[in-house]
Amino acid sequence: MPMPAEATTKDPTGTEEIVGPFADLIQRLGGDAWDIAAANIPRDLHWQTVLLTATIAALIWMVRSGHGSKGADGRERRTGLVQFLLPRDIYTHMSARVDIWLWVIERVLRPFWAVALLATVGPTTEQSVIGFLQWAFGATPALQPNYGWMLLYSLVTLLCYDFAFFSIHYTMHRVPALWAIHKVHHTAEVLTPMTRTREHVLAGPIWAAGGALSFGVAAGLFAYLFDGGITAATLFNVGFFSLLFGFNGSFRHYHVQFHYPVWLSKWLHSPVMHHIHHSYLPKHWDTNFAAVTSIWDRLFNTLYIPDKDEYTPWGIGPETQAQYRSSWQNLVGPFRDWYQMLFGGKTPQAGPASAAEEAQP
Ligand SMILES: [Zn+2]
Ligand SMILES: [Zn+2]
Repeated sequence: MPMPAEATTKDPTGTEEIVGPFADLIQRLGGDAWDIAAANIPRDLHWQTVLLTATIAALIWMVRSGHGSKGADGRERRTGLVQFLLPRDIYTHMSARVDIWLWVIERVLRPFWAVALLATVGPTTEQSVIGFLQWAFGATPALQPNYGWMLLYSLVTLLCYDFAFFSIHYTMHRVPALWAIHKVHHTAEVLTPMTRTREHVLAGPIWAAGGALSFGVAAGLFAYLFDGGITAATLFNVGFFSLLFGFNGSFRHYHVQFHYPVWLSKWLHSPVMHHIHHSYLPKHWDTNFAAVTSIWDRLFNTLYIPDKDEYTPWGIGPETQAQYRSSWQNLVGPFRDWYQMLFGGKTPQAGPASAAEEAQP
C-alpha cells in the first residue's frame, strides 16, 4: 500500500484541511476496497492463526495430561491429542455446518453494504472529530510522533474499539428487537473457529458501523494532534495490536479452555471467558460482553471469571433451541420474532432464563 505523501491540503479559504487516515485510505484504495471487502477470508482460518491455536492447544493438552477441552455437551473431558484438537462430536455437529452456511450467506451479501457503509461512517466520524477539535481548540498543535505517542494511539484505538464492541453487544442482548438478530450467534450449540463469524446477515452492518465509528474517533483525535502525520505509524501500530489481541478473538470460539491467571483476567478477556458468554445457564447469561479487555465488563458489573473446567452448555437452551437448528431457521428467526412482537403481542424473552433452570448440571 502506498504511504500517504501529504496529509494536509490547503483549501481556498486558507485554512488547513486535515485529511485523516480513514479518508486518505478510502481515497487511495478506491475500487480496490470493493474487492477487499468481498474476498474476506475469516482471519481465524489463516494458517498462522490455525498453527498458533493448535500449538497452544497442544501445550495445554501436554501440561494437563489430556484434560482441558470440552465436548459438544460443554463438559470438560480427557482425550487423546487428535480428539483434543479436532473433536469429532463438535466438527460433525449440525451447528458447525450452519456456522459455515451463515458465513457464506453473509459474505455474499456483504459487498452490497460494506463499501458504502465503511466509506461513509469511518471518514465522516474522523472528519467530524477533527472539525470539532479545530473549532474547540484552534489549529492543530502538530505534535511530532514518537514511539510513546504511537503506542498511546494504539491503546486509545483499542479501547475505543473495545468500548464500541461492548456497547453494541450489551445493547443487542438487552433490546429484544436487536436480540432477535444477535441470538443467531448464540444458537451455536458447539463452538468452532467459524462460530466467530456466525451472525445473522443483518448483524454485519451493525458491527461494521460500530467498528468504523470507534476507529474514526481515535483516528480523528490523533490526526488532529499530529496534523495527520501519525497515519503511517498508526497503521503499523494497529496491526501490532490486532495481532496481539486478535488472537484472543480467534481462540475464544475454540472448545479448548485457555485460561489466564485470575489477576490478568480482570484486565484482559481470556478466550475461555467467552465460553461463559455462550452458555445458557442463568448464572452465565449476559456476562463477558467485551472483545479484548475486561475493563468495561468490570465497570458495568458483567464480568464473570470462570472456574477451572466450568460446565458451559452452549446454545439458547432446550426450550427454544429446536427452533434454531438449520441455516434456514436461523435466517428467518429474527423476522419471525419481529412479527410476533408486532402482531402476536409477544415479546420474546431476552434470554433462555426459565428453560435453562431445568438444564442446570
Ligand atoms: Zn452475545
Ligand atoms: Zn461468540
